[in-house]
Amino acid sequence: MQPNYLIGAHVSASGGIANAPINAAAIGANAFALFTKNQRRWVSKALDEKQIELFQENCQIANISMDAILPHDSYLINLGHPDDELLTKSREAFFDEIARCEQIGLTLLNFHPGSHLRKIDTDKCIRRISDSINFALARSSTVTAVIENTAGQGSNLGHSFEQLAQIIDAVEDKSRVGICIDTCHMFAAGYDIRSQESCRAVFAEFDNIVGNQYLKAMHLNDSKTGLNSRVDRHESLGKGEIGAEAFATLMTLEAVKGIPLILETTSAELWPEEINWLRSMTKAQ
Ligand SMILES: [Zn+2]
Ligand SMILES: [Zn+2]
Repeated sequence: MQPNYLIGAHVSASGGIANAPINAAAIGANAFALFTKNQRRWVSKALDEKQIELFQENCQIANISMDAILPHDSYLINLGHPDDELLTKSREAFFDEIARCEQIGLTLLNFHPGSHLRKIDTDKCIRRISDSINFALARSSTVTAVIENTAGQGSNLGHSFEQLAQIIDAVEDKSRVGICIDTCHMFAAGYDIRSQESCRAVFAEFDNIVGNQYLKAMHLNDSKTGLNSRVDRHESLGKGEIGAEAFATLMTLEAVKGIPLILETTSAELWPEEINWLRSMTKAQ
């Protein structure tokens, strides 16, 4: 049976993806995120079968199921690119990421929606993002495309619930699209989740505008920058501008049960403590 709460961190896959579940187990996680290739390069070599087998074995030993794993795609990909040639390049790289996930047996792929680079308008860019998702889903069969909300830095789209809903709206296969809410990005984009009351209200708004059925994962990060700063700087839980009350409240929400909750906080040495604390908050009421 799947445990109720899947809590982990974005761990290192250095030396090979098979090391990621070992790194996750070592911090007391029963969920994790990883890059399946170098996140700052366009091309990586193909995964070898032995490494995949070892990855699955190590997940089994760590008792981590495939749907508790949230791979993150390359930072270079822009699925809303205004330039057609570069859009094609991004779409191919994104499809390659999905194909790698399917090869490994992973069920989710987390990605940033895209940026208009001030060359096309928001609606056109959002349409490109949805079409990019359609392109990848039509060529694959099992992976769910999990769109991460952004801080709205620069021309990055997907910083409002309305924009996320608009992207999903033009996706043809709605059974294979979802959202990962990053709390730091959400706060930097103007959603005040600092108090129990405001946090509950923001998540009720998400359910209204996007729908909780699309919430497939979360990134739990505090923020170095203030509300609506539009600047994406992660901080350890309770040590930033958001504060502990938001995270304590989140762990009591029905919507966080059974989905990967991933720390991308700045001090990896605090991860075991942060995971323990989040778990203790689920029993607090
Ligand atoms: Zn991300
Ligand atoms: Zn994130």
